[in-house]
Amino acid sequence: MKDKAADLAIVSNKTFEASTAVNLHHYDISSALQTSLEFNELISIFCNKIQNTIPHNGVEYINEEFDLEFKRGVMARHSCSYALKVEEQQLGELKLTRSNRFSRDELKMLESLLCCLIYPLRNATLFQQALKMAFTDPLTKTNNRTAFNDCLLREIKRAERNSQHLSLIFVDVDHFKHINDDYGHGCGDLALSSLAGWLKDSVRGSDAVFRYGGEEFVILLSDTDIDGAMVIGERIRADIESHTLAYGMDVLNLTASLGVASLKGSDSPESLIKRADAAMYQAKQHGRNRIEVGY
Ligand code: GH3
Ligand code: MG
Ligand code: MG
Repeated sequence: MKDKAADLAIVSNKTFEASTAVNLHHYDISSALQTSLEFNELISIFCNKIQNTIPHNGVEYINEEFDLEFKRGVMARHSCSYALKVEEQQLGELKLTRSNRFSRDELKMLESLLCCLIYPLRNATLFQQALKMAFTDPLTKTNNRTAFNDCLLREIKRAERNSQHLSLIFVDVDHFKHINDDYGHGCGDLALSSLAGWLKDSVRGSDAVFRYGGEEFVILLSDTDIDGAMVIGERIRADIESHTLAYGMDVLNLTASLGVASLKGSDSPESLIKRADAAMYQAKQHGRNRIEVGY
């Protein structure tokens, strides 16, 4: 009897120690995950923290909502992957790989540890969604004016640091007021969102297109000189002219006037914008549906 009691005491003591260790491990991971709202950083922190408990050689994290694909280490033969989700909110898919099979106990432990990752990932999702909204125009889904100011400053500094060209194209829809007056604001809104799509298709990355205001868009072209910007601008002008817009029974055509300017040594963000804007007004004065350069 005595021996049995001693045995039991030892077993329960071990269980207690093990669960304390697990709890401490969870606490340590959770604390570390509180330090970031970036997806890649959270995944890196999590994988570093579980490396001793669940050794692995490669990690892959895919988050379609944010167009994110994070890979670390080497992809190996055996893998385990989890579609992470909380309260109907998709949080991406995490995959760990290594050369030997993951044991059942390891998977059980991993699933328990993943609970530490879920809420930090949810917080990151909410934060990144808010950030995206703050920099996106809701009608056209392009970057907004705030994003433009931010990006222009960054691009000017980069161009100066790397001695690269930087060009800017101002696009203003011709007689846009008539579209609203003749067909209604619904049609005007459709015209703007369609135009934004055409602009994004015309340039290398959709990140380069910004809604500056009303029916005015700006395109930022890094590492592009004035001649290159003129070629792209002319392509955009012709592209807008060639599209037709169907609105109910009506079919409409849009045209736009464009102004182009390239960064000079003495330029501030304001002076560069001013030159492109002035060139656009010149295009209006010269008959619209054309492109002018601001020297
Ligand atoms: P111009 O060829 O000289 O540029 O003439 P315009 O009519 O395009 O220019 P104007 O500045 O006179 O008018 C711009 C119009 O754009 C007026 C405004 O009501 C309309 N607008 C601005 N933002 C929006 C929007 O979000 N939706 C709609 N439907 N219309 C808008
Ligand atoms: Mg305008
Ligand atoms: Mg206009």
